[in-house]
Amino acid sequence: MTEFEKRCWAEISPDNLLHNYRTLRRALPEGCRFLGVVKADAYGHGAVQTAGILEKAGADYLAVACLDEALGLRAEGIEMPILILGHTATAYTGALIEHGITQAVAGLAEAERFSAVAQALGRTLRVHMAVDTGMSRLGFLCTGADFETGVTELVRACRLPGLEVEGVFTHFAVSDEEGEENERYTREQYRCFLAVIEAAGTQGIRFPIRHCMNTGALLHYPEFALDMARPGLLLYGYGDEAGKLGLRPCMRVMTRIHTIKHYAPGTTISYGRRFTTARETRMGVLGIGYADGLPRLCSDKCSFAVAGGMAPQRGRICMDMCMVDLTDLPGAERGDEVEIFGPRADLNALSRAAQTIPYELLCAVSKRVPRELKNF
Ligand SMILES: *Cc1c(COP(=O)(O)O)cnc(C)c1O
Repeated sequence: MTEFEKRCWAEISPDNLLHNYRTLRRALPEGCRFLGVVKADAYGHGAVQTAGILEKAGADYLAVACLDEALGLRAEGIEMPILILGHTATAYTGALIEHGITQAVAGLAEAERFSAVAQALGRTLRVHMAVDTGMSRLGFLCTGADFETGVTELVRACRLPGLEVEGVFTHFAVSDEEGEENERYTREQYRCFLAVIEAAGTQGIRFPIRHCMNTGALLHYPEFALDMARPGLLLYGYGDEAGKLGLRPCMRVMTRIHTIKHYAPGTTISYGRRFTTARETRMGVLGIGYADGLPRLCSDKCSFAVAGGMAPQRGRICMDMCMVDLTDLPGAERGDEVEIFGPRADLNALSRAAQTIPYELLCAVSKRVPRELKNF
């Protein structure tokens, strides 16, 4: 091969997504609904394609972060229920109702604003109430001394006209982290969530869909399923424990060896001259850099999969390129494909090198990287 059409690209496997969906679904109790979290362009995988596959496969719900993401799905013909997890300005109540989008409601004042606008329109907005059981982010604060006030406000919000309260949910802070204290905290969050639901129940409030199960809970607290599971990362087959469940990565980021050069020992490589060859070195130049989402922090700390094995990355990662040592991989040639992460090159290892989590690296794959549906 002499000409390369693409510098780098991301392959998205519909088969692996379907496999993961079915595998997770099978692990859930009978009757438990499945919500696929497709915020942030489905963790970089492409929200429209992902939603289309989940809708066809029979998933019950989708979740996004904001109105734009929800409208983007509706515009592409996605008809299944969509929950917006984050804030939406009440000025858009009409758009939410018009497009059949469910809104998370995080407090009494917000509920009153949605209620007022919905009533003025003579319509009803479907909502899920967010309960803060210890994440300390959005939601009716119901921890510790705030329990009574939290429940009182939640119940008042649920009784407002113009709102159809379809669900209630909470979010865990450390369900994905090991250790006794993390387990204690997570179980306390769950206990608090159930206590809130029960206290509201004694005042006649029923929530048809109670949900709290993110990736961490799905892995470590299968008994928390309630009426719906809500995984993101696991659905895409990533995270330290995805392999244990037989899940498969749905994205692999690819590039090619654009050039191979030979350097004498003592040659410095890339910006900053931070890497010096210790031997005769056969160095490949790859068409991917930090503008594509490969963190510069990984410089000299990661390796990528080429024909014959893993090639260590050398020298500072540039905006559009980076270098790999191919000396020990004589089979690797100019034009060959290189996997940056995917089934062969571990995203968890790359995340650790970047001092972050796989979530961030998936979201970081930039717009410049074309997505292709392709089973691998
Ligand atoms: C992002 C998000 C999820 C999904 O989290 P994962 O760890 O990817 O499973 C679930 N619930 C809420 C509220 C979220 O914001």
